[in-house]
Amino acid sequence: MEKLKLIIVDDKEENVLSLKALLADIDNLDIWSSTSPNEALRYCWNQDVAIALVDVQMPEINGFEFVSLLQSNPKTWQIMVIMVTAISKEDKFLLKGLHSGAIDYLYKPLNPDITVAKVKSFMQQVYIQRELKRKNEELERSHMELMKAKKEADLARKSKENFLANMSHEIRTPINGITGITTMLRNSPLNEEQSEWLDYLENASQQLLLIINDILDLSKIDSGKMRLDYAKTSFVNIIKELTNLFAYKAEQKGITFEVINDNSLPKQILADSLRLTQILSNLISNGIKFTENGRVTLETKLLKRSKQRVHIQFSVKDTGIGIASNAIDKIFQSFEQGEEGITKRFGGTGLGLAIVKRLVNLHQGQIHAYSELGKGSEFVFQCWFDEEDSEATPKSEKKQYTDLPPLADVHILLAEDNELNSFMVTHMLNTWGITVDTVKNGKEALEKVENITYSLILMDAHMPVMSGFDAIRAIRNDPREHIRKIPIISISASVLQREQQAAYAAGADAVVGKPFDPISLYQIIKTLTHAKTTA
Ligand code: ADP
Repeated sequence: MEKLKLIIVDDKEENVLSLKALLADIDNLDIWSSTSPNEALRYCWNQDVAIALVDVQMPEINGFEFVSLLQSNPKTWQIMVIMVTAISKEDKFLLKGLHSGAIDYLYKPLNPDITVAKVKSFMQQVYIQRELKRKNEELERSHMELMKAKKEADLARKSKENFLANMSHEIRTPINGITGITTMLRNSPLNEEQSEWLDYLENASQQLLLIINDILDLSKIDSGKMRLDYAKTSFVNIIKELTNLFAYKAEQKGITFEVINDNSLPKQILADSLRLTQILSNLISNGIKFTENGRVTLETKLLKRSKQRVHIQFSVKDTGIGIASNAIDKIFQSFEQGEEGITKRFGGTGLGLAIVKRLVNLHQGQIHAYSELGKGSEFVFQCWFDEEDSEATPKSEKKQYTDLPPLADVHILLAEDNELNSFMVTHMLNTWGITVDTVKNGKEALEKVENITYSLILMDAHMPVMSGFDAIRAIRNDPREHIRKIPIISISASVLQREQQAAYAAGADAVVGKPFDPISLYQIIKTLTHAKTTA
């Protein structure tokens, strides 16, 4: 137990001595005394005194003044003061002492038992007070540390978001060029061999896009920004799509992909078909990737039906290489793979299952892996869905951009610093009968609109010299109405909502992402320019 300092202040030496003798047997008490209140005050200012026993009647400074002086100093206001008095027990004296800051009285002649008991009880209070103070300071410290850690985490999250925004822009811009040119080539006369080369090219760019989408998905889920988009979904269509996607891939590897579909499943459910397909595709594609002989089986099972809700179990089973039991837990973590060297043999980033697990969790479901090394693996998850009665609207056949009718009298200014994209977009716009001027940055765009009246501007977001956002702002602030009102589409390679909002805030009428869908670009141009088709 910590020793506490007690001070006795009394102008009469004999009183001091008798009090000292009374308190001498109390443990953990360090007693100091003085017959001079001034000396006692100095002592209190310099030492960590816990309790003071103060005589009321003293010649230099009386007891009440002494207490007031202690109270007025931040170094001494916490000292617990007990007044020792021989004078009247009348209330007015009692009150005077209490008002000046004393907390109790002892009356002369002192009763030894009461005196010792009181001092001991105040010592307990001091201990409690000090403990409280320590706890408070600790709390304050951990609060400060928490605030600091939160600030650091916020900063780290921001810089991660910025990094992702920049990276997604940097990677998506060239992919946009590649997929655009691939689309153009698809619509040109090709022999069979060239067509096959194009398949490879398309495949490679899709792969690249998948990887960056995976990284963005992961960060979106982790920052709590991923929402499931529920809509009426045909179960059969999902299964059909997956079969179309994977039967051929499996066949090429000399293995079988089969589906065992529970016929009692409802035809329609309310689901986020994109995310459900993403979960299943990841599992099936892993199954095919890690299986050399045998089969990969997707099995669905209706576990329960209750009040228009269905509990469905999905399982993807393979007869592949299996996963070591000590690796099963870590395969669901980001960038983790079942064993060393798996990337060299099979490729992959180790993100697939991390996303799958998070997406299943977003569906309020659980996923488990069962595997035996050398024999195969099974991934099983269950989720609840709402049942839907009516038929889903069938998807229309995908149109080619070259099928779209030309637009009359549309003259577009394209501001894009990436040459490949600029070439590709110009070609597409030309296909729709649109005439195009191209510039490489926002400043050049501003110079162009000085002399030419455009039907619309397509403005890339990130460009050197002057960004697309700055150029849009300058145009929207131009005093001349024919310039200020030009429709502007911002082209953004970032998938972050923040950046799209920034484009609208700058004054863009629409935002298209990269890689963009030519058909929707055509629609937006048509709407914003009110152009008539010529065919
Ligand atoms: P990757 O893109 O590297 O395949 P995943 O997150 O999809 O990343 O998978 C992580 C690891 O889990 C894989 O590298 C592999 O070691 C193991 N794994 C996943 N699915 C299977 C499977 N069906 N059979 C064997 N191992 C698998």
